[in-house]
Amino acid sequence: MKLFIIVPCYNEEAVLAETTVRLQAVCRQLEEAKKVAEAHLLYVDDGSSDGTWNLIGQCSARSSMVHGLKLARNVGHQKALWAGLEWAATRCDAAVSIDADLQDDVAAIPVMVDKFLGGADIVYGVRRDRPTDTFFKKHSAQLFYRLLQRLGGDVVYNHADFRLMSWRALEALVRFPERSLFLRGLVRSLGFRQEYVYYDRSERFAGTSKYPLRKMISFALDGITSFSVRPLRFIVLSGLLFILISVGAILYGLWSYVCGKALPGWTSLLVSVWFIGGSILTAMGIIGEYVGKIYYEVKRRPRYFIEEETGENDP
Ligand code: UDP
Ligand code: MG
Repeated sequence: MKLFIIVPCYNEEAVLAETTVRLQAVCRQLEEAKKVAEAHLLYVDDGSSDGTWNLIGQCSARSSMVHGLKLARNVGHQKALWAGLEWAATRCDAAVSIDADLQDDVAAIPVMVDKFLGGADIVYGVRRDRPTDTFFKKHSAQLFYRLLQRLGGDVVYNHADFRLMSWRALEALVRFPERSLFLRGLVRSLGFRQEYVYYDRSERFAGTSKYPLRKMISFALDGITSFSVRPLRFIVLSGLLFILISVGAILYGLWSYVCGKALPGWTSLLVSVWFIGGSILTAMGIIGEYVGKIYYEVKRRPRYFIEEETGENDP
C-alpha cells in the first residue's frame, strides 16, 4: 500500500528541515516494517513569503520520497490542506495530514497505519491534554468545541487536523463542493469506520504560530455557520420572547395611561429601546453571516491554484 503524509506549510522555513528528518524517519520505519510498500511526504506551500519553497525543492531534489506543491497565493491552512488531500486522493491508499511545526506526535503515525491496516477508514489523532498551550488558547479552544457540539455540529473533542484517511474516505471528501472549509467537521460527517489514536501535544518546534486571534475567530465562525443553523432558530425564539414581553409592556403602558401617570415611564422606555435595538442588530448580524456565506458559496470559485510542483509527478 502507498501512504502520503501531507504537510501544509506557511512560512515554515525554521522547522522544515527538522520536520523532514523526523517524517522521513517515520516513512522509512513504516517501509522497513513492511507495513507500507511506499511512503511519501507531500509539502503544500501555502504561498509562503520566506524560503519555504526553496527548502522543499532542495528536499525533493535530495530524496524521491519528498514532493511539493506550491500554491499561487496564501489561501489558508484548510484550503492548503485540501489541495494536498485532493492531489493525494487519486495517488495513494491512505494519507495522513499533519502540521509542519511538529506539535503533533509523529510516533502516532505508525499506530494510525496499524488501525488503517486493521480496516479503519478514518483515524483521528486526539490530544490527551494541552499542557503547552497558553491559558487563553486552551480555554478558548475548549469553549469553541463545547459551543459547536451544543449547536449540533459534530466534531471530535481535542482533534485538530492530524488524521489518517483511506482513499475511500478521501474520494468521498473531495466530492464536497463547499468553499468555506471546516475539515474536521466535514470528515466527521463522512461516516465509514472511524477510530482514534491518543497522543500528547508538544510545543511548536520553532517559528511562531500562523494562527493569530483574527484567523482563529474566523475559523470558529466558519465552523459554526457551516454546521449549524441553530443560531438562526435562536433568533426566532428570542424574537418571540420579546413579543411576549412587549404584550406585558403594552398592557402596563395602557394601564398607566388610564390611571393618568404616563410620564414616569420614560426610563423604562429608554432602556427598552436600546435593548431591543441592540437585539435587532445582533439578530441581523447573525443572519448576515449566513447570507454572506451563501454569497461566497454560490460563486463556486476555485479553492486554490497550483503554481509549481516538485518531485515525480506521478509517484
Ligand atoms: N498554515 C498554512 N496556511 C496558513 C496558516 C497556517 O498552511 O495561512 C499551516 C502552518 O504552516 C502549519 C499549520 O497550518 O503547518 C498549522 O499552523 P500553526 O501551527 O501556526 O497553528 P497553531 O498550531 O498555532 O494553531
Ligand atoms: Mg501549530
